[in-house]
Amino acid sequence: MLNVDLHSHSNVSDGMLAPAELAARAKANGVEIWSLTDHDEVGGIAEARRAATSLGLRFVAGVEISVTWAGKTVHIVGLGIDEDDRALRKGLARVRGGRVQRGRDIAEQLEQAGIAGAFEGALQLADNPDMLGRTHFARYIVEAGFRPSVSDVFKDYLAEGKPGFVPHRWATLEQAVSWIRGAGGRAVIAHPGRYPFTDLQRDALIENFLSLGGEGIEVVTGSHTPDQYDIYARIARSAGLLASRGSDFHGPAESRVDLGELPPLPASLKTVWHDW
Ligand code: AMP
Ligand code: MN
Ligand code: MN
Ligand code: MN
Repeated sequence: MLNVDLHSHSNVSDGMLAPAELAARAKANGVEIWSLTDHDEVGGIAEARRAATSLGLRFVAGVEISVTWAGKTVHIVGLGIDEDDRALRKGLARVRGGRVQRGRDIAEQLEQAGIAGAFEGALQLADNPDMLGRTHFARYIVEAGFRPSVSDVFKDYLAEGKPGFVPHRWATLEQAVSWIRGAGGRAVIAHPGRYPFTDLQRDALIENFLSLGGEGIEVVTGSHTPDQYDIYARIARSAGLLASRGSDFHGPAESRVDLGELPPLPASLKTVWHDW
């Protein structure tokens, strides 16, 4: 089976490496089809494509859109998009728009929890200030010595229900799927195992997604346990969704799973790249 990695982040969103560095790392790790899927932003695609092409690595333009569905944040990956599509770009700009104010609110709450200077600190770590996100806050809090790792910071400060969590209204599911499809891409539910949904809610999400023209679901991702590979393989088959595979790599120091270093998809699944 091809080594396909269709989910990764550069420093254009909350990853650590530049798009060209990611391309080189994907190539070195044996990836054969690679997608850059920065959060709410396609600004890294041109550099990624250029680098991948010069390395003889097949490249797929991607994005990971933040969505609010049933009051929770859900991520929808778009693959094979035309990154110059105007409606997509305009929509993404609007989704990004609330991030700086949200960052100020996060910093204010962190200050009350005893962590000062987080806004400036996080902003300094965000190579693209427009894309200031919780990961940048987490890195600042690690640097400041409050917690040993980014995942500890999420657990104690930034996850829903923790002192630094600020609820936010992202795009709707309908908007995300329509921007992706309008730009010629395929919409994929990212890391379904990560959402705090009951089985019933999860099924409703899938049904809603399918009715909007969504086509795929991540089965093997850096965010799933091996048990979850089987669960979501079964769900992909029964819902008629195309299966996707991606590391969700953010950086060497932080990500458990490196680019391309995932098990293959379970057999007999129709893949999201079957006709590429
Ligand atoms: P944001 O879009 O700013 O709310 O940030 C979401 C990002 O935070 C995700 O894309 C992950 O990179 C990161 N993240 C979320 N939860 C965790 C966690 N428990 N541990 C580490 N990183 C996380
Ligand atoms: Mn991220
Ligand atoms: Mn995600
Ligand atoms: Mn991601």
